[in-house]
Amino acid sequence: MAHAIVEKIREAGVVGAGGAGLPTHVKTDAKVDTVLVNGASCEPLLMSDPYLMDAEVDTMLRGLQAVVECTGASRGIVCLKGKHKKALESVRAACARTEHLEAFELKDFYPAGDEQVLVKEVLDRVVPERGLPLNVGCVVSNTETMVNIAHALEGRPVTHRYLTVAGEIACPMVVKVPVGTPVTDVLAYAGGPVIRDYVVVDGGPMMGKVLQAPEKASVTKTTSGLLVLPPDHNVVLRKIMDPKTVRRISFSICCQCSRCTDLCPRNLLGHRLHPHKLMQVFANQELESPVAREALLCSECGVCEKYACPMLISPREVNAQIKRVLMQNGVRWDNTGWNPIPSPYREERRIPTQRLIQRLDLVAYDTHPHYVGEYTPKEVRIPLKQHLGAPATCVVEVGARVQAGDLLGEIPEKAMAARVHASIDGVVTSIDNGVVTIRS
Ligand code: SF4
Ligand code: SF4
Repeated sequence: MAHAIVEKIREAGVVGAGGAGLPTHVKTDAKVDTVLVNGASCEPLLMSDPYLMDAEVDTMLRGLQAVVECTGASRGIVCLKGKHKKALESVRAACARTEHLEAFELKDFYPAGDEQVLVKEVLDRVVPERGLPLNVGCVVSNTETMVNIAHALEGRPVTHRYLTVAGEIACPMVVKVPVGTPVTDVLAYAGGPVIRDYVVVDGGPMMGKVLQAPEKASVTKTTSGLLVLPPDHNVVLRKIMDPKTVRRISFSICCQCSRCTDLCPRNLLGHRLHPHKLMQVFANQELESPVAREALLCSECGVCEKYACPMLISPREVNAQIKRVLMQNGVRWDNTGWNPIPSPYREERRIPTQRLIQRLDLVAYDTHPHYVGEYTPKEVRIPLKQHLGAPATCVVEVGARVQAGDLLGEIPEKAMAARVHASIDGVVTSIDNGVVTIRS
């Protein structure tokens, strides 16, 4: 039975919808005691998870039930914030109709949705350094992933994505679109940007990335939001600072106050990550020192950069740069013999989401859009790599007629990857640079 469920998830091309896109058949092929649904939606402005928790609650619970069964777990817990009252009521009512599914009300702080923070909050377990929730007997999956798992059990592959459109846009909304929908089409459907010069962030303001060429970008299985912001917005400037400037600034103005370390969520879990020490290591280019390896523990949550640092510099970017060098050199973190003990100050150092929104200068965009749209474009551009691991191998040719749900990309033999499917009916008009274009 467990094998059959994992196989259906694999066939449907389900990947983690909330983050890096780990193929879900890899994650669910495990034995654990608890399955958590991550509905924290902790990135400011993003609203599709609370929407799904309410509108698709029964589907989401069917997905959770399947993962509980296939992992042999005894509990399934849906985690969401109390501020999403309607969603919480729906989840509680739906869980009450089941035997071993329950709801957990999270406090409203950032980053409540970090898997490791979530596991500590809900189960009081600490994931080891560089570890996974699996190491402490649980699997964590995002809300939309659970919905996609439920569809997979019915033989329906992942063809659509729910995302939030927010910021300087005429009609902020949650919208459902086929995977591969051009970003510019989504913005136009939401009424278009209301400023002439703008930048588009793919994801949330904390961890999202600035799209270098929005006109060429499309929605993938992991696109949780599109934020339209002025080019000189605080959130954007921090994301586009060039590496040389980061180094110069970190060398010249870091005052070693250690506030970045005091508020670092991973440090507060007891992991040996000290961003203020990494700032020194980076400024002196001592990347071979044992302290430099701490960068491997950074989740890049952005708390140090966007909230903690009084000098407005970016330990997160510094860590990311050090991490890239260490990974290129094959350096690994050794957590042998280290038992992380969470800080006694962890609770009082949580960052309230509203205060974070003020600090990021996003109050004007925090409109909680309730409008939900569904849009189907005439053309989709579907990347064969929307997940962690190897790209899928293309199995169609230019000129092929496809229907939504048909296979476009297969998992290469012995590789970690996810299948990719057509999201609209149409004809394959090009296969270029790992992207399959279909025109209806
Ligand atoms: S908070 Fe900023 S100034 Fe203080 S140690 Fe960290 S990087 Fe340096
Ligand atoms: S980004 Fe900063 S606050 Fe977040 S885990 Fe890394 S060092 Fe800690």
